Amino acid sequence: MESTYVKNLIMTVIAASESDVWQEAVTEWEIYDCEEDESCSEECICGKENIKYLYRIRNVINGNTLFPIGSSCIKKFNRTDLKEEASVREGMFRLLHAVDENKYLSLSSDLFSRRLLKYLYDQGAFDTEYNHYDGVNDYEFMLKMFNKRDKSSITIKQDKKIKAVLLNSVKPFLLETLAEKVI
Ligand SMILES: [Zn+2]
Repeated sequence: MESTYVKNLIMTVIAASESDVWQEAVTEWEIYDCEEDESCSEECICGKENIKYLYRIRNVINGNTLFPIGSSCIKKFNRTDLKEEASVREGMFRLLHAVDENKYLSLSSDLFSRRLLKYLYDQGAFDTEYNHYDGVNDYEFMLKMFNKRDKSSITIKQDKKIKAVLLNSVKPFLLETLAEKVI
């Protein structure tokens, strides 16, 4: 039995889609934006209350948007690409809070993933005036350090560079692009 929430989701999405078939309708959508509501006071388009991440999704065929939609409803689309993007976007908010509190200035796997580093790079987070707005070397360095199985093999010099990149590139980037999306 499908819950009322799932029925609401399916009806709302299909009404805004070109296709009337759920399995086809889900392919028409992309994640357009995501905000974080720390008070969890909003209600998803399915009717479920207290969602934390407020996604805006956009229909790539007709331009319709739906907002707000929560993480668990994004998963109901059953699309790996959307699930992965949602996980990265939520990881970005966790990273924002961590760097904002100066907590984790290391490449710990509870905050970082290869996908998240790639997303940061694609968004230009490693581009600064110090590298002439070409962050590829810093990105590759960070990826290499993250991929090290034995983190104790990271030298003091490398560790300093990791902290410098996090402080001088990643932190300002997150504050500039995400801080206003925390409501
Ligand atoms: Zn929902």
